[in-house]
Amino acid sequence: MDNFEYNPNPGRVVFGSGTLQKLPEEISRLQLKAPLVLSTPQQVSHAETVKDVLKGQIAGIFTEATMHTPTDVTDKALEYAKAQGADSVISIGGGSTIGLGKAISIRTGLPHICIPTTYAGSEMTPILGETANGLKKTRSDPKILPGTVIYDVDLTMTLPSAMSATSGVNAIAHAVEALYARNTNPIINMMALEGIRALASALPEIVENPSSQSARSKALYGAWLCGTCLGSVGMSIHHKLCHTLGGSFNLPHAETHTAVLPHAISYNAPNIPEVMKKLADALPDSNGDAIHGLNVLLTKLKVKRGVKDFGMKEEDIDKAADIALSNAYWNPRPVEHAPIRELIRRVWAGELAQ
Ligand code: NAD
Repeated sequence: MDNFEYNPNPGRVVFGSGTLQKLPEEISRLQLKAPLVLSTPQQVSHAETVKDVLKGQIAGIFTEATMHTPTDVTDKALEYAKAQGADSVISIGGGSTIGLGKAISIRTGLPHICIPTTYAGSEMTPILGETANGLKKTRSDPKILPGTVIYDVDLTMTLPSAMSATSGVNAIAHAVEALYARNTNPIINMMALEGIRALASALPEIVENPSSQSARSKALYGAWLCGTCLGSVGMSIHHKLCHTLGGSFNLPHAETHTAVLPHAISYNAPNIPEVMKKLADALPDSNGDAIHGLNVLLTKLKVKRGVKDFGMKEEDIDKAADIALSNAYWNPRPVEHAPIRELIRRVWAGELAQ
């Protein structure tokens, strides 16, 4: 057994079906009186449901959360929170809404309750990425970690199957990088493998039958575990590439993770033989080959494989490689220009990883 350090993050998790009904209990447990409810414009009805569950006892609803947490939206929400006398924030939605909740909470110290409705995992991390003047900057601070997370599988039933598939692969990517993180540890390894197993079995079922409650529940459980991994240990080349491609070329978050993951694993494979074995064991139909197992899974999920389909231009490949190499994250295989450029070219073209 190698030496390790393990820092559990001190959040409270309530998981199940119908758990949104436990929100009033959580609010009174924290002695809160006036939460500000946050959502995207697409999830106003979810925000209204929160208001109903709290019998109208809220400071207000702010429905302008958007991707990449722009600071001008945060400023507007902060002004509204102050004007309404909010004493806490409740974010209901995916990573975009949770990002806004984190941005308000870290600036004001207001308690943050998260109700995630995708599999992106932000609710379990002390990480916040914000955009100002077209630049996305990420920071990590224990105070960013939401205090309470309510997972209610019923709220995920409306997540379209294509979004469920890519969001689920986004979660798997967190667990994969946790397996080979420099500061990984046995607990995180167990969570990562269990999370991958749960998602790899649930996601194809969701794509076939989006209203399967049992598959949705298993996927959300997997997402929780994978998000915990992301929140506990470091990220490597996969996340660096996704941040580069998403942030610099405005590519969609979960879809980019999905296109990059098999290639990032293939890049690292020669340096992580033990992880490749564990990963192969966790993926069904792998025949002992993790990359094959992942390719089979992505085929079942009917996802797009190339980021050219999301608007990235071929001439941007060189720029992406340069950005990916600047301030590179630690990675089990040294990050070198020529093979990284080739990796990005394959991701751009949507070639199968080998
Ligand atoms: P998202 O939050 O942008 O959601 C995508 C769309 O789906 C939105 O329109 C949303 O309203 C809608 N939606 C979400 N749940 C739904 C549901 N159940 N039913 C119907 N519609 C629903 O997407 P995301 O992938 O969850 O989050 C991406 C953002 O989160 C990115 O900005 C990314 O950087 C950030 N993120 C941050 C962390 C972190 O730890 N800081 C982790 C993961 C993602």
